[in-house]
Amino acid sequence: MTLLERFQLDGKVALITGASSGLGAAFATGLAEAGADIAICARRAEKLEQTRRAVEALGRRCVAVTADVSAPEDCTRVVEETVAALGRVDVLVNNAGVGTAVPATRETPEQFRQVIDVNLNGSYWMAQACARVMAPGSSIVNIGSVLGSTTAGLPQAAYSSSKAAIIGLTRDLAVQWTGRKGIRVNAIAPGFFPSEMTEQYPDGYLESQQARLPAGRPGEPEELTAALVFLASDASSYVTGIVLPVDGGMLAT
Ligand code: NAP
Repeated sequence: MTLLERFQLDGKVALITGASSGLGAAFATGLAEAGADIAICARRAEKLEQTRRAVEALGRRCVAVTADVSAPEDCTRVVEETVAALGRVDVLVNNAGVGTAVPATRETPEQFRQVIDVNLNGSYWMAQACARVMAPGSSIVNIGSVLGSTTAGLPQAAYSSSKAAIIGLTRDLAVQWTGRKGIRVNAIAPGFFPSEMTEQYPDGYLESQQARLPAGRPGEPEELTAALVFLASDASSYVTGIVLPVDGGMLAT
């Protein structure tokens, strides 16, 4: 295998959660470009369909399943439908996520639980469902956040807690599954990337954070996808249990 062939995903099936918009949609087309057939899930069927068409336009197969990752039975169904349609799951990208910014004294139990339910619990249910069918050589990539390791000027207890927990989940599953099942488990901690999620930020917020970034600008989805291809593919065959920041240097400051 040549060095560049290690990055290729030909013959593999990648399942991406939360692929109806933003980074998840970019990950789906990016992994398709790298050669994988794709399974995608999210709650909005119509937007998921747009991603499915974009993947198929690249000449790859794509199965789209409407699902809520906070429901364990939905996660099981997504994996069953992926295996039925595409035969296997080699890569899981736990990308589905919700963000909130609520002052801690005002946040309701429902608001807090909703974020944990999707960002943390949903990642675990999906990892469990995939690990039951994955063959040795498979890879799970959890999408965390720099906010798992730092703060960034907004009151985000629920979101930060969920993303910090992703670091622990990644470490533990890597230790459980790398040796025993041959499944590597890693995480990516993105900095700021324009998406539906960042559109909800208050006016001027992104600009105020930009001054803190050594790179001096938000990231492009392709810059994140390149890191994802590394962790999803055999290029990272000796990498497991890590959190890779892709953040323009934010965590270095
Ligand atoms: P986004 O455009 O809002 O995408 C979030 C995706 O998650 C959507 O496709 C949404 O689809 C899906 N989703 C939400 N709840 C779900 C549920 N219960 N079940 C299934 N899917 C669900 O935001 P994004 O920025 O691309 O975020 C993607 C990931 O990157 C998130 O985990 C986020 O925390 C992380 N991240 C983003 C940034 C950034 O700067 N953009 C930085 C750090 C980390 P439906 O609404 O159709 O279900």
